[in-house]
Amino acid sequence: MSIFFSERYMQLEPYTPGEQPQDRRYIKLNTNESPFPPSPGVLRAVEEEAKRLQLYSDPESRNITSALAEHYGLKEDQILVGNGSDELLNFAFMAWCDECCPAIFPDISYGFYPVYAELNRIPFLQIPLREDFTVCTDDYLEPDGTVFLANPNAPTGLALAADEIEKLLRARPDRLHVIDEAYVDFGAESVLPLIRSYDNLVVIQTFSKSRSLAGARLGFAAGNAEMIRDLNTLKYSTNPYNVNRMTAAAGVAALREDDYYRRNAGVIIENRMWTTEELRKLGFTVTDSRSNFLFASCPTVPGGELYRRLKEKGILVRHFSGPRLEPWVRITIGTREETEALITQIQELLSTGGETS
Ligand code: PMP
Repeated sequence: MSIFFSERYMQLEPYTPGEQPQDRRYIKLNTNESPFPPSPGVLRAVEEEAKRLQLYSDPESRNITSALAEHYGLKEDQILVGNGSDELLNFAFMAWCDECCPAIFPDISYGFYPVYAELNRIPFLQIPLREDFTVCTDDYLEPDGTVFLANPNAPTGLALAADEIEKLLRARPDRLHVIDEAYVDFGAESVLPLIRSYDNLVVIQTFSKSRSLAGARLGFAAGNAEMIRDLNTLKYSTNPYNVNRMTAAAGVAALREDDYYRRNAGVIIENRMWTTEELRKLGFTVTDSRSNFLFASCPTVPGGELYRRLKEKGILVRHFSGPRLEPWVRITIGTREETEALITQIQELLSTGGETS
């Protein structure tokens, strides 16, 4: 830390992204990326758009906004695109939380939520997940503030049914609910259609997972026009050109080739079921994930050690610290070959008694 660093941020503990080591080739099952490349139309659109990089991008991102509106049956003023959904989540914390309106989210969820709260000096209330890591929506009925729920949740992969979220919307019309649907395309139920009926709901989605565009940084928020205006106030106060030309063009092309991405999501779901079964056969406890990753614990090897042993073998998974998270690892579902390699390595590791090599 330099002597010039603002006192305001001295205590800030930044988010730790999944590691991207360069020392060797790894099977990367640690950052929930898609194992599939972008569709051919996306590559063509990016190449074409690169010819206009001397020009700023459209601050209104009209091409991708109208494509999203058409795709999801919404109006353009009900959508705002962002530089990844991370940017929009930060705007959401800034826009709808303050000293008098705390952020409310589960104690185990996306690690960025407490960082956004602290960055913006927002008090927050973390509600414990049940013993089995599910979200108990009844626990969310009472507190005042703005609710943030990742659905499916991360890193557990567990999802709430849309009607459970709707129950909250109906019970607390006076309170805003931000539903982070980063992983929704892998088998969970989206509440996006509910934004037409509820003014206390904002849904945030990303192109990073099911649409293979993590490196392009594209997310979107959907809600009523007034709430989208709130988010725009923050966007125009920080970065009006938040979505670059190539990313917007990639997003439009990706929506046109939706079938390709749906097929890929189907392959990932199938592979998730296969990998879950294989891990359970090996004695692991695995949650019923509705996302493109698994949350798994081994009865004999603690999560941190499993992570280290797999890394030595060239396979990256993610381990989180925290008392309830210690035994667990989060494993991104890659291609069948990648997850087969994972299962083989785990079998080997267990057959050698789990001793450190
Ligand atoms: N929400 C959740 C629950 C996530 O796991 C992630 C991915 N790290 C994001 C949002 C952000 O995704 P992106 O910024 O790539 O759209």
